[in-house]
Amino acid sequence: IQVAVLKESRPHEKRVAMVPAVADKLSKLGCDICLLSGAGLSSKLPDSAYTTARFVNTEQELLATANIVLAVQPPTAEQINLLPPGCMLLSFVYPHKEPDLTRLLRDKHITCFAMEQVPRISRAQAMDALSSQAALAGYYAALLGATKLARILPMMTTAVGSIRPARCLVMGLGVAGLQALATARRLGAITEGYDVRPETKEQAESLGAKFVDTGVDARGEGGYARELTPEEKDKIASVVTRHIQQADIVITTAAIPGRPSPKLISKAQVDGMKLGAVIIDLAAEGGGNCEYSVPGETITQGQITIAAPLNVPSMLAEHASELYAKNLLNLLQLFIVDGEIKLDWDDEVQAKTVLTHQGEIKPAAVKTALE
Ligand code: NAD
Repeated sequence: IQVAVLKESRPHEKRVAMVPAVADKLSKLGCDICLLSGAGLSSKLPDSAYTTARFVNTEQELLATANIVLAVQPPTAEQINLLPPGCMLLSFVYPHKEPDLTRLLRDKHITCFAMEQVPRISRAQAMDALSSQAALAGYYAALLGATKLARILPMMTTAVGSIRPARCLVMGLGVAGLQALATARRLGAITEGYDVRPETKEQAESLGAKFVDTGVDARGEGGYARELTPEEKDKIASVVTRHIQQADIVITTAAIPGRPSPKLISKAQVDGMKLGAVIIDLAAEGGGNCEYSVPGETITQGQITIAAPLNVPSMLAEHASELYAKNLLNLLQLFIVDGEIKLDWDDEVQAKTVLTHQGEIKPAAVKTALE
């Protein structure tokens, strides 16, 4: 089985879909791994680190005989046009953001597994790239918050008196939010967490954080949150505003599948924050959780810093690539059997992750939206 790994070409993308340890495992499964020279360099992986992979210098050479193509970001149209018909692709796609590429994958008869579609079930945890990347982003959000502050996080006793610990509020307690809470706490901050799914109370408390209880339950489908009604928003604001305005760092991570990021922090709430406070908005990809957020930028409003970084996992490319490549390996192991590709549509993970196959867009909702 010929496995080709793309060199990521989108701006600010430093990750790579293959690391040496995963290349070793795949070659034991009967795969021949090929990369474009320099593909791992921005993840601190020189060509020489991959002892079981081949390197070529052109995309034509890389893709001409590929059976499976691996990538982090969706390939460009030019790259898709180089794929042999029937070839498989595993990458993030986000078809709503990439309708033309999705149609091209369909028309080129590519069997595409979209990594963002891996179901959130126990059996698929080791393939769940959204989670592996979100955990890293949550960790990094706490560090970004700490370094943008003009004060320290832990309590410190000095000869001239004690410094009180900083307060960190995390809004949205999914995978990223819980990791942000854990990290801020390890750095010595007093932590508080808030979410609209009541089950997150116990999760926040187990990480030493206080749960900000607004009394609103907005559990939606599949463990995700649903959109809030205007009454619920008012009820939440009446409780949460005080916590936002007492915080030194606010980290937001809230997302609703298929919808723009909900606005959790209004301009008025920011205007009432402590001078020097910092907001790290991890929902920038979906437009941001704060009304002031400018995706991809760090702005200062009054004396408040509002950072809305894009593609945070890529800032930790070494570990992000390692975890992502392992997620890919675990997915590939579902259908690489005895050195051959054997797809099984009775397997829930394969059936739910597939985006295009044999000239068709498979998920009904995506098909309706794009056709
Ligand atoms: P996400 O990135 O979709 O959203 C982040 C958080 O924002 C969620 O906790 C959500 O409830 C919250 N949120 C949405 N609107 C909000 C609002 N208005 N105010 C406050 N918070 C708001 O979340 P995720 O990290 O992808 O996790 C989503 C779900 O999937 C969770 O239930 C998680 O436990 C579950 N999950 C399950 C598995 C598994 O079983 N394999 C793996 C990962 C995640």
